[in-house]
Parts: sequence; structure tokens; C-alpha cells
Amino acid sequence: MIELKQLQKVYDQQQDAVIKDVTVNILPGEFFVMVGPSGSGKSTILRMIAGLEPITGGDLIIAGERMNDLPPKARHLSMVFQNYALYPNMTVSENITFGLKARKVASATQLQRLSDALALVGLTDYAYRYPRELSGGQRQRVALARSIVSGAEIILMDEPLSNLDAQLRESMRYEIKALQRKLGITVVYVTHDQTEAMTMGDRVMILNDGVVQQIGTPMQLYELPANTFVAKFFGTPQMNVLTAVTDWQNQGVAIDTPFDPDAMVGIRPEAARLNPENADDMAIEFWVATATQIGSETLLFGTINGREETLQFKISGHLDVPTEQFITLYIPRNALHYFDLNGNMLAAVGV
Ligand code: ADP
Repeated sequence: MIELKQLQKVYDQQQDAVIKDVTVNILPGEFFVMVGPSGSGKSTILRMIAGLEPITGGDLIIAGERMNDLPPKARHLSMVFQNYALYPNMTVSENITFGLKARKVASATQLQRLSDALALVGLTDYAYRYPRELSGGQRQRVALARSIVSGAEIILMDEPLSNLDAQLRESMRYEIKALQRKLGITVVYVTHDQTEAMTMGDRVMILNDGVVQQIGTPMQLYELPANTFVAKFFGTPQMNVLTAVTDWQNQGVAIDTPFDPDAMVGIRPEAARLNPENADDMAIEFWVATATQIGSETLLFGTINGREETLQFKISGHLDVPTEQFITLYIPRNALHYFDLNGNMLAAVGV
């Protein structure tokens, strides 16, 4: 549906490209998420797809047609912004049909699409309200409805939920995703929020500094992170990455590695257990500095054998773990991730 081929963006000739050779194929009907820290280039890519930002290099193909030099209108897509961009002096209905009017769509068609869209986003009773009379979530639904009536097969969304409070954000995630499925449209969704990416994306592309780090399903990114950047981006708390396995071995920690002994070992906090599950689980003596109970989980912060790195583990259950003393933690061997000295995955056993 949308192909990016070695897409590049240079804003300032004196500076490096901010988007470096991004190549990906976005499939029809896919919910495709672009995620990464602030400044990694997500919005720039989205704006190049939309036609709001000139493309410096590479190709943008939509439905088989090269779109680099075509104006936004010719690209068969619609965009939803973070700030909704509603007209304050127009009612909900007027906001939704504004684009259809401008394109001189027949009024019977307009009315039909309007009532369908209002029903879809659950705002039928709000058709004659003004944006100021709506909650943040309702405004965002109006913006969605406006995109839907346009009939576009592709909707681009730039952090559409970031102005909403946490509870609403969560319910809107499911609403948007359900709507996308129902309509069968292709969505390209930008967010900096790992949870949003993981819960909404059919596939997720993670960017850092204008470079694609990995593209995959949420489970692939979690279970087989291509490098330490991806490994640390997804999952809370972050994956523990222990450097130089030899150092650990010298201190009596029984980590064995099938790889270069200088390799780094990654352990997700949630991999730890208080009791062994398998005969060959890795046992580590862990100095518990603090233990914090957060609802159904207990978070442990501490160190191993006097090494400086603070590690975090997450044990499920509400437990009274003693602090300021050693406890034994068990890590299944298949939960270990290995990275080379550049941070690239050597292997993740246990998928
Ligand atoms: P993200 O959406 O991931 O936060 P952006 O695409 O907004 O990232 O920005 C990527 C990089 O491009 C950043 O370094 C940013 O400072 C730079 N940038 C964005 N827009 C412009 C612009 N109009 N002119 C110059 N540099 C820009």
C-alpha cells in the first residue's frame, strides 16, 4: 500500500540527513506504528508520506504510484493531528463534512457519510455541539470522524492521543484500533509511547536518530530485539544489560555464553523467579537494596556480588522480600539475550 524506498530527508544542507535510507513496505489494512524517542524522525517521515514535507531522496510509492512530487490531495490519504485541528466556530457536523463540501460531494452522500461516521465514533448525539462543548476525547473522535468520511483508504496519525489523560488514552487506543479493523483501512501511526506501539501495532518500526532499528510484530520486538536500543526501549522496567560476561564469571556468577565472552547479556526484569523452575536455571545472589510493591508485582533494585551496575527485577505477586540482604534469584536460561560489543543481537534463546 505504501512503500518507502531508501527515503531520505535533509532539512539543512550543512547538516546530516535526519532520515537515513528508510525502507519499508506497509501492507493494505495494516496498523503500522512508527515509534522512537523525540527527535528520531517519526513526524518527518509521516509528513513526507502526507506530502507536507519535500522528500530529499528515495521513493515514496502509494498503491503502486510514485508520489514524491504529487501534492497532498493526490495521495488518497487523510491525516489526524495531535491537536485535532478542529474549527472552533463550526459544529461537530460542520467540522466533519467540511472537506466533503469543499470537494463538492453531493449533499445526500455527505449526510449519509456523516451519520455513518458519527455512529462509528459514538457521537450521534453531539452533532450540533461546538468543539468547546466537548471533552478532549470527544474532540479527538471528531477528528477521526472527519478522516473517516473523507473515504481515504490510508489515515496517517501523528500522536493523536498525547493530549488526553491516561485513562482516556487507554480506551481510545482500543477504539481507534477497533475502528481501523472495522473499516479495513491502512493506518500509519506515530507515537513515542512504547505501550501504545505494542498494544496498537500490527507491526512496529522503531527509529533512532533517523535510522530504522527494527521492524516487526510487537512480540518479535520484545522477544528478539535486534540490538540493545530496541531491547531497552520496550518493556518496563528496562531490560538489564550486563556488560562483559567474563567479568561476571570472574566474580562467580554462573553466566555461560555460547558466544564471545566479552558479549553482553540481557535479562528482562520479569524473567526473575524466587524459586527455580528448571534444573538448569541460572542462580544469582542478588543484593536487594530496595523492594517496592506495585499492585500485583514486586520491584527489586539491587546489585550482584558488589558490582556497580544497579539491576532491576520484577517478581509477580505481592511479596515481602527482605531488603539489605542477599537473596537467590533464578533466571531461566532461555530468557537470556546476547549482544555483541556494538549492541547487536547475537541470539535470543527461548522464543
Ligand atoms: P520526532 O517526530 O521523532 O520527534 P522529528 O521528525 O520531528 O522527530 O524530527 C527529526 C529531526 O529533524 C530532529 O532532529 C529535528 O530537530 C529535525 N527537524 C524537524 N523539523 C525540522 C525543520 N522544519 N527544520 C529543521 N530541522 C527539523
